[in-house]
Amino acid sequence: MRKIQKILIANRGEIAIRVMRSAKEMGIKTVAVYSEADKTAAHVQYADEAVLIGPPPSAESYLVMDKILEACKITGADAIHPGYGFLSENATFAKKVEDAGLTFIGPSADAIKVMGDKLASKQAVKNFDVPLVPGMDEPISDVEAAKKVASEIGYPVMIKASAGGGGKGMRIVNDPNDFEEQMTRAVSEAKSSFGDDSVFIEKFITSPKHIEVQILGDQHGNVIYVFERECSIQRRNQKVIEEAPSPVINEEQRKRFGEAAVNVAKSCNYYGAGTVEFIADANLDFYFLEMNTRLQVEHPVSEQISGLDLVKEQIKIAEGQAISFKQEDLKIQGHSLEVRVYAEDPENNFLPDTGKLQVYRRPQGAGVRVDDGYEEGMDIPIYYDPMIAKLITYGKDRAEAIERMQRAIEEYQIIGIKTTLPFCQFVLGHEEFVSGKFTTKFVEQHFKPEYLKKEIPEDVQKVAAIFAFDQYQENKQKTVQAPSTNTSRNNGWKNRMKAD
Ligand code: ADP
Ligand code: ADP
Ligand code: MG
Repeated sequence: MRKIQKILIANRGEIAIRVMRSAKEMGIKTVAVYSEADKTAAHVQYADEAVLIGPPPSAESYLVMDKILEACKITGADAIHPGYGFLSENATFAKKVEDAGLTFIGPSADAIKVMGDKLASKQAVKNFDVPLVPGMDEPISDVEAAKKVASEIGYPVMIKASAGGGGKGMRIVNDPNDFEEQMTRAVSEAKSSFGDDSVFIEKFITSPKHIEVQILGDQHGNVIYVFERECSIQRRNQKVIEEAPSPVINEEQRKRFGEAAVNVAKSCNYYGAGTVEFIADANLDFYFLEMNTRLQVEHPVSEQISGLDLVKEQIKIAEGQAISFKQEDLKIQGHSLEVRVYAEDPENNFLPDTGKLQVYRRPQGAGVRVDDGYEEGMDIPIYYDPMIAKLITYGKDRAEAIERMQRAIEEYQIIGIKTTLPFCQFVLGHEEFVSGKFTTKFVEQHFKPEYLKKEIPEDVQKVAAIFAFDQYQENKQKTVQAPSTNTSRNNGWKNRMKAD
């Protein structure tokens, strides 16, 4: 047992603040690291101390292990929380942290090594009664041999980078004639994005659901599951809307998912918080996809329905404490949704949009949680992930969580940058989403950029934005009167729509 006194968070944005909040509640001091692009960032302001670690590109700052270890030395931090992305799934980093005599708030370097690699993880879970997506469990580099494997598996197939993540390094092949080209691309993408060119092939499951299980393990061999999250609303194989629990599984199926996830964790003596991802077909037969050995972006929905603070659990586990409750102590209460607010243009193929948050006002009220890392007037840097915020709602049931989300999105005022919010509003109102029966094909099957354009014509958006911004600036200068809520972009659209 080693009580943690001061945590350095090797990350930025919303997740850095998320971790600091829990640390603060536990009486633990916090240290931020930041690049030159983040000098005035919210996570730097929130921390007790902050250390500049380099120029804007993450390869020269947030990804430089020695600079982060040096920052621990300077500040006397005795533990590192890696957040997600960046160094969170880097076994070398975890080992360096431990070798420096510091506590890594995450699993062992060995577990990261096995699970951080999609192929190694498949090999590890093979003997643990976990169903795998049909396909290979070793890398392949010869195109002809690969083509043969693909036809044995049966088209459509997916070529995947073993070291891939964040929806990158994956290619679907429907037709054998396209195989060679797609494989060449997959290999070069794997090399350039992940520095590792190994790829493998698996069956592409048409119209699956992405259902994942949150697990917690301690250093005494206890592993429990904190139920599932449904994450099938994706664009570019990356999630945009998540929820817990899944709207379609029953108690018996929940137990099966949970127990399979626990087996995955046991296959690598896992401790810490982790996520086991599955894809499920129409019969809810499910297959292991991968394990993420870190806190997941969408962890808040699991917190809302379980009452746990997953970061506090991570910290206690890293200190060597045993999990203080049992599987049967956990109960699902209510329903929770999360929408990811990305600085992206849903009308233009979800391409990243950058710029200044001219107006930025968060929704509030019952059942609404916003995890973000920006304030009004800040720029969204081009160097990092374009996620601005996560909007999370909680309700007594799914219907209430959805209603709250719709209301909260309406309240959310973001001017200056295009975001995924209008897209999310579209999804929430779609009957297939409401039914719960949607799959990862939802965007492809049901979404067209025109749907947003029809609702909110661009000229209206522009006029409304300028109007709202001017009004807002005016109101800001008034000292007595609170800013009028009538300046919202949504109201601008609505008024104009009515007039039309
Ligand atoms: P999650 O799996 O937690 O739902 P994402 O897949 O969106 O979330 O990944 C979280 C963040 O980490 C994103 O910024 C993503 O770009 C990044 N990321 C995930 N895996 C990797 C990886 N292997 N290498 C680099 N970045 C990654
Ligand atoms: P990442 O590390 O980028 O998160 P995953 O293997 O978890 O990669 O896959 C991300 C998403 O891609 C899944 O949620 C799913 O939508 C889709 N996907 C991955 N593998 C398959 C497959 N074999 N069949 C169908 N869809 C898949
Ligand atoms: Mg994944």
